[in-house]
This record gives sequence, structure tokens and C-alpha cells, in this order.
Amino acid sequence: MTANLLDFDLEGLAVFCEGLGEKRFRATQLFRWIHQRGASDFDQMSDLAKSLREKLKNTAHIAALPVLTQHISADGTIKWLFDVGDGNAVESVFIPEDDRGTLCVSSQAGCAVGCRFCSTGHQGFSRNLSTAEILAQLWFAEHFLRKHLNTEERVISNVVMMGMGEPLQNYSALVPALKAMLDDHGYGLSRRRVTVSTSGVVPMIDRLAQDCPVALAVSLHAPNDGLRDVLVPLNRKYPIDELLQACERYLAHAPRDFITFEYCMLDGVNDQPEHARQLIELVQRHGHQGLRCKFNLIPFNPFPASGLHRSPQARVQEFAKTLLDAGIVTTVRKTRGDDIDAACGQLAGDVRDRTRVQERMSTQRQAQEQVIRFTPLSSSSASAKDPSQ
Ligand code: SF4
Repeated sequence: MTANLLDFDLEGLAVFCEGLGEKRFRATQLFRWIHQRGASDFDQMSDLAKSLREKLKNTAHIAALPVLTQHISADGTIKWLFDVGDGNAVESVFIPEDDRGTLCVSSQAGCAVGCRFCSTGHQGFSRNLSTAEILAQLWFAEHFLRKHLNTEERVISNVVMMGMGEPLQNYSALVPALKAMLDDHGYGLSRRRVTVSTSGVVPMIDRLAQDCPVALAVSLHAPNDGLRDVLVPLNRKYPIDELLQACERYLAHAPRDFITFEYCMLDGVNDQPEHARQLIELVQRHGHQGLRCKFNLIPFNPFPASGLHRSPQARVQEFAKTLLDAGIVTTVRKTRGDDIDAACGQLAGDVRDRTRVQERMSTQRQAQEQVIRFTPLSSSSASAKDPSQ
């Protein structure tokens, strides 16, 4: 069995090259071929010595994940379902906007946290993804989009680890993938344009601050422990005060940053005026002059097993106004890709039934040829500006 080179950040690849008796700088050349040029065939890598290419052919490979389905929304959002073996599949979503191209990436097949409002949580947990399986989502999407938009420019400017899974419960695979995203020889994404979203794994928030302090989003969804214990069961282990203290410590490592709090608006559950007031009190109690944060209110995407409903638009606006009036930056997330079930919390909605997984995946394979067809996006909606801007 040979090594999949998507499993390495640049340092890992340097160690691998040294193991082949090669100089470390060869790893930089190889890393660029893989991530910047999307090469998977060693014979393409014309500036590598023939002897090294032969060694690589015997010891390594570069493998994407098989695409089971690809769906394109009327608004340009694209959702891919990738086969990760043994009946498991994960999803990635590309969201084009005027000034950016964002890829939402999965970190686990399923999720063990089991949030009440989340389709993935209802699916249960299968396994952690490897670094290669996390990075392959970006590698495939970036080079697929470049090819079909006929551009050599970078298309994906932002990555959000908000797909299936709790990324901080797959920490050892996550960090090398993040490092490859940030590496100038890899994707060269700015630290603020790579976001890890967590339901609140406090010890790993502290480790991430040390190892790779990218932008942090916290799935809060409730202003008090009683309610959060029900909506986000991990809260029973790491209650809100501990979580917000971890956020304060995180910001100490990223002084110019802020925490994004994700808040899914659930009709009659967490969307009342007293909930907004409790949130204000919560963030004002933490940090030096209140926690540096932003709230992102998310319209709930209902699915039958949840028994929950979307808050009416007027209540969401009222909730946002209360936070804004208290001086807290607040946005209401625009739903994207509704027609292809790519909206937040809907990922894996169509792979929920694990009891019939083989049958389902064979059906999906049959459907694949009909679904995979690519309509080029307008370049204004898909191409990204320089991320440093
Ligand atoms: S919201 Fe995130 S952490 Fe919660 S169950 Fe869904 S994928 Fe897991």
C-alpha cells in the first residue's frame, strides 16, 4: 500500500521525501505540483528528476475521493457527495458570491455530537476522515472549478470547516489539512479566511490557538445551559461559561480577530426576546469590555425527524435588532442552495438512512451520470478576489 500524498502538510511531505533519500526542498516542488497545479500523475512533474519520479511511483499516489453525485443549484451553489468507503459518504458545498468563493468542508463521516437541529447529528457517527480525505475535498473542488471556468486563477478564497462532523473531535487529521490550506506553497489562504466551526470542544479550542489559530466559529444556539444542554448535548461536558472563557483565551492568540457565534433560529425554542437579552448579558460578562464577537443568525432548515420549525422572518429580524441595538455585530445568514439541500444543517440529509446504505449508494451511482453535468458559472460570481484584500 503506497502513501496518499494528500495526507501530508509541507512538513510531513518533507519528512516523507527525506525517507526516500531526497532533499527537503524537493517536497516544496512536489507540494506545489499537487496543490497549486492539481497534478496527480508524477510524470507531469517535469522539474522533478526522473529518478525521484520513479521512486514516487513505487511508494506514493495522489488520490481524489470518488464523486457519487454533483448537484448544481439555480443560485450557483454546488454540492458534491464523495464516497469515503464502507458505505460512508461525505458532502462538500461550494458557494460562489460576488467577492469570494467559499468551500464548506466535512471533517467526519457523520457526527457524534448529535445536535437536535442538525441532520448530520441525526445520522450518527461513522468515523473520522483522514487528512487526505479532508484535503481531497478542497483539492478536487479547486481544480475542478478552475478547469470548468477555464481559469488558472484561484477560485476558492475561503474554507469553512462546517460540513459534516465536529472538526475538533478529529484534531490530529484536521491540523495538517489546515496547514496545507494556509501554506504559501499550497493554497495560500489567509488565516482569517479559513474557519473552524466547533460545537464547543474546550480543550481543543485551546490547542488550536497554539497550533493553528485560524478564524473560530462557535455553534452556540442557546443563551443558557438548560436550553443548550438539550440542543447541543456537548454542553453537558463543556458548559457555556467554560466555552466562553476558552473563546477569550483564543482571542488572546489572535488579538485582531473576533469569534463568530452561530445561532440557529428555532421557532418558539430559542428565538424569544428574553433569549436575545440573555445573549447580550453573556457576551458582556466575558472579555475585557465584552467578548469581541459577531452573531450569525441562521434560518433553520427543517427536516422531519427534528420536530422543530423555522422561526418566522419577522422574529428573526426583531432578534437581530435587539442584538444590534446592544452594539453586537449581527448578520442573518442568507440561505443558499435550498433547491439541492445544501443549506446549513441539511448536509447528509439524503444519506441519513444508514441501515440501507449499500442499496442507497448503488442507486446514487446509477443516478450519477444523470446528475454530473456542469453549467459554467459566470466568472463574476465564481472567481475570487485576492484574499489578502
Ligand atoms: S451541528 Fe455540527 S457538531 Fe452538531 S451534530 Fe451537526 S455536525 Fe455535529
